[in-house]
Amino acid sequence: MPIYEYRCPQCSVFEVICAMSEATDSSPCPSCQQPAPRKMSTPYLSRSGSAEFRLIDATKRSAHQPQVIMELPGTKRKNTQHYTTNPLHKKLPRP
Ligand SMILES: [Zn+2]
Repeated sequence: MPIYEYRCPQCSVFEVICAMSEATDSSPCPSCQQPAPRKMSTPYLSRSGSAEFRLIDATKRSAHQPQVIMELPGTKRKNTQHYTTNPLHKKLPRP
């Protein structure tokens, strides 16, 4: 989801993550609750679609919408396919 920036006239700039259809021209400031107009900013297109961008997006999304756990932590999965031997890849989120 895109990140929209809003500039509160009394506080500072804050960000809101929401769908494009839900973006409004103003949003209430999280600290003073006054309506803050949306700030025009450049889109971050250089990494969109890349694995890095998908990971960042999934990480931000999981802060608000945690994924459902299908098994208890620590239980071994049967029929697990190992595509890589790099131990750092085990830390990446699984679908
Ligand atoms: Zn404010």
